[in-house]
Amino acid sequence: MTTPSPENPDNSPSIERARQLRDELWFHNERYYNDDAPVISDGQYDALMQELRELEAAHPECRAANSPTQMVGGSASDRFPQVEHPIPMLSLANAFNREDLEAWHRRVTDLLDGQRFRMVAELKIDGLAVRLVYRNGKFVLGATRGNGQTGEDVTENLRQVRSIPHTLTGDYPLVLEARGEVYLPLESFRRMNEERERNGEPLYANPRNTGAGTIRQLDPEVVRDRNMEIWTYSLNDTGESQLPAGHWDALTALESWGFRVNERNRIFDTVDEVCAYYDEMLGRRHDWEYEADGLVVKVESISQQNALGFAGREPRWAIAYKFPAERANTRLLDIVINVGRTGSLNPQAILEPVVVSGATVQHASLHNEEDIHRKDVRIGDLVEIERAGDVIPHVIGHVSVPGEERGPAFRMPENCPECKTTVVKEVGDAMHRCPNSACPAQFFESLKHFVSRGAMDMDGLGERWCRILIDRGLVSDVSHVYNLTAEQLIELDRMGDKLATRILTNIKASKRRPLARILFALGILHVGAEVAELLAGRYASIDELSRATVEDLTEIDGIGPRIAESIVSYFATERNQQTIAGLRDAGVQLWQELAPVDETAQPWKGQTFVITGTLSSMTRREAEGKVKALGATTTSSVSRKTNWLVAGESAGSKLESAERLGVPVLDEEHLLALLSSPDSIFIEDAAGRGPETASPTLI
Ligand code: NAD
Repeated sequence: MTTPSPENPDNSPSIERARQLRDELWFHNERYYNDDAPVISDGQYDALMQELRELEAAHPECRAANSPTQMVGGSASDRFPQVEHPIPMLSLANAFNREDLEAWHRRVTDLLDGQRFRMVAELKIDGLAVRLVYRNGKFVLGATRGNGQTGEDVTENLRQVRSIPHTLTGDYPLVLEARGEVYLPLESFRRMNEERERNGEPLYANPRNTGAGTIRQLDPEVVRDRNMEIWTYSLNDTGESQLPAGHWDALTALESWGFRVNERNRIFDTVDEVCAYYDEMLGRRHDWEYEADGLVVKVESISQQNALGFAGREPRWAIAYKFPAERANTRLLDIVINVGRTGSLNPQAILEPVVVSGATVQHASLHNEEDIHRKDVRIGDLVEIERAGDVIPHVIGHVSVPGEERGPAFRMPENCPECKTTVVKEVGDAMHRCPNSACPAQFFESLKHFVSRGAMDMDGLGERWCRILIDRGLVSDVSHVYNLTAEQLIELDRMGDKLATRILTNIKASKRRPLARILFALGILHVGAEVAELLAGRYASIDELSRATVEDLTEIDGIGPRIAESIVSYFATERNQQTIAGLRDAGVQLWQELAPVDETAQPWKGQTFVITGTLSSMTRREAEGKVKALGATTTSSVSRKTNWLVAGESAGSKLESAERLGVPVLDEEHLLALLSSPDSIFIEDAAGRGPETASPTLI
């Protein structure tokens, strides 16, 4: 219920709601722009803003001069000298789907009396907008947006952003004003958080706010240490120089004067083209060393831009076509513990359902007790969650709500929630574990894993049937699945002849899986698919592996003492020996014939490859498999020791590192050529690297 007030004499619910929304949005503007510490996600903020816009459009009486729909959200703090912006630094209208973009296109066409117009599409970088002023080619002023009219003079900090030129090159105008987005590269953000984690400090929540906070603090050395970068995206007409007539040409000119301009900018004629590009960029948004939250679509011709002008806080000639939100805040209702197949106690967050990137999220992994303490999340807290593409959602951290009381810090249970055995936590292991290898919860997970596709691949024998087989007492060791009979299966409720036959056929077929698959299927702690491949590359049988010592195992490249100890301890356990005996008795092949290593078939031995970007003819993993098959090794980061960088589409920072370090770069075509005639290709140059082909095309 509302009460009448001078603002709302008729006690209208719409006016009251609009007032509430204005208050809420101003509160969040303050947290986001001034404190650099938002308490709701951008998606939630956008939804509130959208609701207010719709109310204002439908009910003119809901409009107010101080509405956040009419003004840029931030303000200039008094920590820095204040700077007036002769040309205001504005916000952008948003489009959330194709219809919104089409509606904008129609509006612009109408306002231009049906004239055609071209559009430039740029990534909308999630950073901090800055204005850069140059006189006689020298950087003289750098300012934040502030409230759009008045910003903060952060020149000294911006001098430490290495991609902001101090001195321009080429034929630049005498007075020049450029704008761009300063951001904290994801690599720097990760490094900063790793260091904080080591020091036991709370982690930074996201790169956008950490980056904005970096520029708005007082120590330029901090900016330099964090390797901040900029993408420059506009050239402004100060009225003092002759500028290009189109935005596209302005971007080209900026680049020629030494500014960093994003190579993913494109120029288009139609909405269809823009939408196709949006889809492509949306699919790649995690490939780059910076965060982008959409495309900015701008009318290309500057004279058309001028004719369109501004509406409130937004130019009519541009629109932000946003990517779907990937983060949201919600309540942590509970933390439940699942026991994994290696006995690990896996805490899982039970969340109040919330929609993130189009999917409803109600569960998220919390990894382990340490993770929960580091993020300082407690039952009842408001938490921020993230869901990137198809990735399982995870909890980023707790969101403090002023004045809200919090529950006690989370503690792991002392006993296994399934079998009540006392839980152990070993030094150096992040997980608490149930040490009882006969724990029913562990066995259920082990069986599910054993029959799964990447392991023994017993199609038809899904999770539900694993549970039923255990409950009926038909299977209490993974090797027991090989003793199952058609009669036993058909007796199970809703099994049927056909399914029983399929399951038995697949069980039989699984007796001939490659050794690496069996090793993986056994569920040995720390032995994932890759380690299993390494082991199968060295040992011809499970018997041989079971005799290996920690010293033997650590001789294998990629196997450290922790993995080695876990393998040795697996084979030393009586119950596991019984499992292996059971598999042998059932006729499961526990050995392989190792082809003798043919050195001549390993022409790329000693070569190290890094593969990055998107390849069109194969996945990165397949490409890695192909180069490894020729004897090369692959690594995930570029260093001076890297011999080759294979750069697919949209290769990002690794390509930049390779170029900086002088590592030869191959494009996909070149890689395919090398793969098809591996022997004729390599010669080593003085530095021990270099291709020799008929016509090497290094990009
Ligand atoms: P905007 O989304 O309206 O867009 C304008 C800004 O986009 C510019 O100032 C510039 O910084 C940036 N930009 C990035 N790449 C660009 C490019 N290529 N060309 C032009 N501009 C580019 O920005 P805004 O007004 O600062 O903020 C609104 C958005 O900020 C909201 O939609 C929301 O996502 C977020 N926000 C969140 C909260 C919160 O509490 N979570 C609060 C306030 C704002």
